Amino acid sequence: MWKLQALVVHILLMGSILSTYFQPTILPNLVPQKTMSEMGLEPPANRLVVFVTDGLRAASFLANNGSDVPDLKDIYRKQGRIGISRTCAPTMTRPGHIAIFGGFNEDPAAALVNFRYNPSDFDTVFNRSRHMIGWAHRYIVDYFNTLPHGGAPLRFDSYMERELPKKLSCDKWAFDKVANFLTNGDNVREWRNYKPSVFLVYLADMDIAGHRFRPLSEEFFKRLQHTQRGIRNTYELFERVFNDSRTAYLMTSDHGMNNEGFHGGGSSFEVEIPLFMWGAGVRREEIDLEANFPRKPNISQVDQSQLAPLMSALIGLPPPMNNLAMMPVGYLNVSDEYEAVALHLNVLQLLSQAQILIRRHEKAMFYKWLPKFKELHLDLIDQYAPQFDFLKAEGNLTEAMEMCQEFGKLAKQCLEYYHEYYQIPLIVSTSLSYLIWFYCLLLQLTRLSKKEKVPRRGYMTFSTLILVMIGILVITMLELQNVPHITAFYLILPVGMLIMAQAERPVKGYWILHPLWNFGFILLPAVLMMSMAFIIKHLWMLYGISVLLNNRRALRKPSMKLFIWLCLALLVAIMLFVEQRIRKGLRNVPLKDFHVLYISMVLAIIRPLILGHRHDLRVWTFNTVAMLAGAYGVYQYMVYEESVSPYVYAVTWSFLFFAFLSIAYFAKSLPEARKRLQLITINMVTVLSLLTNSWSCLNVQIVITEFIFGLEVYEQSKRTKETEVVEDERKSLKNLKDFYRYGYMILLYFFVAFFLAGHWLSSFLFKSTAARLFYPHFSLYIAGSLVMLKILLPSLICICVLYAMVPFVRKNSRSILICAFLISDAMGLYKYYFVRNRGSWKRIRTCLDQILLTHAVNFMLLGGLCLAKIFLCNTTMEKPERKRTRTSRSTLAADETEA
Ligand SMILES: [Zn+2]
Repeated sequence: MWKLQALVVHILLMGSILSTYFQPTILPNLVPQKTMSEMGLEPPANRLVVFVTDGLRAASFLANNGSDVPDLKDIYRKQGRIGISRTCAPTMTRPGHIAIFGGFNEDPAAALVNFRYNPSDFDTVFNRSRHMIGWAHRYIVDYFNTLPHGGAPLRFDSYMERELPKKLSCDKWAFDKVANFLTNGDNVREWRNYKPSVFLVYLADMDIAGHRFRPLSEEFFKRLQHTQRGIRNTYELFERVFNDSRTAYLMTSDHGMNNEGFHGGGSSFEVEIPLFMWGAGVRREEIDLEANFPRKPNISQVDQSQLAPLMSALIGLPPPMNNLAMMPVGYLNVSDEYEAVALHLNVLQLLSQAQILIRRHEKAMFYKWLPKFKELHLDLIDQYAPQFDFLKAEGNLTEAMEMCQEFGKLAKQCLEYYHEYYQIPLIVSTSLSYLIWFYCLLLQLTRLSKKEKVPRRGYMTFSTLILVMIGILVITMLELQNVPHITAFYLILPVGMLIMAQAERPVKGYWILHPLWNFGFILLPAVLMMSMAFIIKHLWMLYGISVLLNNRRALRKPSMKLFIWLCLALLVAIMLFVEQRIRKGLRNVPLKDFHVLYISMVLAIIRPLILGHRHDLRVWTFNTVAMLAGAYGVYQYMVYEESVSPYVYAVTWSFLFFAFLSIAYFAKSLPEARKRLQLITINMVTVLSLLTNSWSCLNVQIVITEFIFGLEVYEQSKRTKETEVVEDERKSLKNLKDFYRYGYMILLYFFVAFFLAGHWLSSFLFKSTAARLFYPHFSLYIAGSLVMLKILLPSLICICVLYAMVPFVRKNSRSILICAFLISDAMGLYKYYFVRNRGSWKRIRTCLDQILLTHAVNFMLLGGLCLAKIFLCNTTMEKPERKRTRTSRSTLAADETEA
């Protein structure tokens, strides 16, 4: 029961944190504005061709006065305008495309899915035009294809890189496809009638070449030559085929790239991307006689999201419904009236979004007394359109446009204000929930450490009734206040937590024993671990000092075992140091990844032999076969371009089941905890080796060996120093210290194993290579669960070791887990105040990963303990060598905690 409670509470706390920062902000039930033709104005272009060169930065495009893009420069001599479009971090493909075609920077909610999937539906230029066709990578197609289209499905032709005959031939594929399409007369006749229409030509090679060769290499410029020539050829083909001077062209990128060949952050190389527009309806800037490329600081700049309203105006469409950008003025070769009306539609669409939010708040019960956005209200919005019409009728277009700009700005501010309206209340209520949860855990801990069991008050009390009534009152108020349901749920969470906590109170006597000690025991490890693991990154030091202090008694009595343990601990500390403090970490060691993996596989077999473990012959065989198959699979994956034979999959999957089921199967023949532990360890290490890319399996084996040796050394030193029977008060404090000591140890080893496994957070993507021996394709669920399993396994082994070797842990597993929760929750709460939901992709990702990790620990420990209990049920522990009557219960079945 308590496990379920801990699980549910942690899920809720995590939800509460995420809902504070990562709620979707896209508004539903919007309607499109009128088109320009409906407003009585003829658009300057009938069709728009957009070339998106993935990953091409402005610096590469503009360098050397355009001599790297000679064909585009040829076009620019006669027509067009060049500028810089500024994207914003995260500079990734998906947010870039959504900004270009949707007109807004993606929701913070998208960070939860790593900017890979649509958290909610949105409208695009494609969708507005009702006639679009695109040639793109399947990833790009997936961003747009699943959106609601209202009866005009988007047409895409797509590919995956692996389907192409040659590497770096994505652009060739796209150009060929366009040429094929346009040389078919039927297609041209059909599309000539479609007004307006949009063509998307997505060009992936620049990104791939930038990653592979870096943007300053010769190889990169060679690819750029090819791509820019293709753009020109495609342009000429369009002109030849349609031949009506009614086509507008736009070339831009989704994001840039830094000199090292990476993107995602907010450096100017990553953020500044080229914008080249030409063809029908594009106003040319004043240029010099040689048509030199414009240079900073004279070059005109737009925000990437402004392209959506600009493209819309070019072909006479209203901006996409979720657009949050204002159209830049002066880019269109149209009448002043046309430009003013286009801007007007843009502002109407922004105001309609603000209106939804203002209405939602105005309808609320306590609207009058709560803070509001004073600069914009419904009456003012109602006045806007007549005022614009009046100014337009007067012919006062400059003033009309100024008014548009002003209202547009207000609408944007208003939207931002109301989107973050409930953030502070959410922060307060989440903090309260945490504090109440701490209180509840401490009550449980006190009750468990008491000798005579005082019953809890339970839910049937007067205070529950009062709290329930308060809860109902708050729900009603939130409902009347029109608070969104998810927010409302987390706002009343503290009340629910309080009901749970007060049921934990004892009927009589102490509420919390040793409150100050508890406070220190939670805070000190939490602060140390937080700072050493995440902030100043000296986990090796924390680890070294902790294990030495823990075994300080043993240091006085040198022995062979102690020496081996010290060597292992030193090794772990050094590896931690290298992994955390030195760039590239253990990859500096001149060994290929698969060599390390093979070594760790050999070690997985040798280690139990050296330590004298005895296993059933079948266990040896299965483990060896699985590892051989794994090694062969890794070899195949490398040589045959990422494909592995189905036999290997069959072996790995069957071993995965064998690893867990065999423990139950051999349970009867292995009644001693130590023997069963050996079986668990060998199986789990083999599973780990199948999930490993390079170092993690080897490192984990070293950590586990060190852990076991350390425990043995500790237990021996404890035996030599006989603890006398102490009086009750001091004993309870000593127990409390021990709970925290083991809780801290479990957490410490979790983080040590985590960092040594080479997961580092910003690269904590679900790499398909973790699942390469299990599943041929990328799948979030399979790869994701296997990565979770990989992170869990070291902790699982550690918990099993403690559970099998230390009677104190087995007896008090619940108390120890509570202490671990307290420490890791304190870490989680601290991190909560530093979450960033905007800005560089790497920073968002790191924040989010740290938050997720400090919570995932709790789930992992909970799961680890449950598994350990199942694995090691009905085992006997070794009797201590000396005669002790206190702890020699030979069969320690599940303890007295209410499992
Ligand atoms: Zn890229």
